[in-house]
Amino acid sequence: MVNYVLAGAARTQAAAMVRELEAARPGAVERLAQGALAELRTWRELTVLEVDENLTEQGCSVAGAYDFGPPPHLSVATSASRARRDFTGLHELGHHLQKNSFALMEPFGREPDGGLLLEDAACDAFAAEILLPAPLVSQHLDTQGPTASTVAQLWQASNASRMAVCVRAAQHLPAPGHILLLDATGHLAFAASHGLPPLTRGSFQGDIAVIDRALAGSGHARGLTQVRYRDGILGRELHTDSAPMDGYLVAVLVTDSAPWRAFTPPTPDTGPQSRDYICANCDEEYRSFAPACRCCHVPPCPDCGRCACPPRVNERYCPGCFMLHPPSMFPADSDRCLNCD
Ligand SMILES: [Zn+2]
Ligand SMILES: [Zn+2]
Ligand SMILES: [Zn+2]
Ligand SMILES: [Zn+2]
Repeated sequence: MVNYVLAGAARTQAAAMVRELEAARPGAVERLAQGALAELRTWRELTVLEVDENLTEQGCSVAGAYDFGPPPHLSVATSASRARRDFTGLHELGHHLQKNSFALMEPFGREPDGGLLLEDAACDAFAAEILLPAPLVSQHLDTQGPTASTVAQLWQASNASRMAVCVRAAQHLPAPGHILLLDATGHLAFAASHGLPPLTRGSFQGDIAVIDRALAGSGHARGLTQVRYRDGILGRELHTDSAPMDGYLVAVLVTDSAPWRAFTPPTPDTGPQSRDYICANCDEEYRSFAPACRCCHVPPCPDCGRCACPPRVNERYCPGCFMLHPPSMFPADSDRCLNCD
């Protein structure tokens, strides 16, 4: 079953990580906030490696990696700015903490993917929690949710990386969506997602609507667009607001309740009437405007994509592309689908 991590769940996990770390190493959280890599280099149980950006894997949302070892080590791309290296170092420390604590691993058992998405999202939330104090965040992001300009302002006002700011902003999204950080060529430098399938770091988004206008102009643009997933597959239409962020572009995308609009109906299928449903598959309660399935008269659940019909094939979850596929899509010796293998 596909389960798209909610920013709230990642944040709850991150808070538990901070508590556990502070109990084990009093004062470490404060020292990490001052200089994450400098502090981590003093830890005897952990080795910090600086590697070429091209050598970092795609598994993480950042240009870094964690290796369980033994001995455990984390790598961070050298090419990045200090703020970005600190964010990456804290993200990888997040993997280290979670992989070495039974208490922190416990929530993964409840996740249909074994906690893969939650673990990585919690690493981002953990890094952002340490680098961006709550009072500063609430000063810039109000209860309606972030706009691209307020995200850029929060970044200006802090010493944190753009990535940390994106994660904090995604925690305040009023509806499923993304906070995207794009480089000047339209490639995705970082994405923080909330309730929607996560996007691949490095993917090209420069020619999708709104983003193309923003890149060609001042960086400020608004409208509807669809983000691009693997193999050019486009996601659902999202209300989008973008702003420049010193050489980068930040974009806020939501399915509805866009903070920069007076009224935002959900995208895309605003059918005549909505009803509340409880998903027979994942027990999620949802309201849907989508057309109902002709067999069971229930529209698909936005969380897992299933109606109330029993699944026809025994689908398997691919950890590479986060999608369900029929068993024929998997080679005998692999847990990844043919697309990803
Ligand atoms: Zn990671
Ligand atoms: Zn469902
Ligand atoms: Zn059905
Ligand atoms: Zn796959």
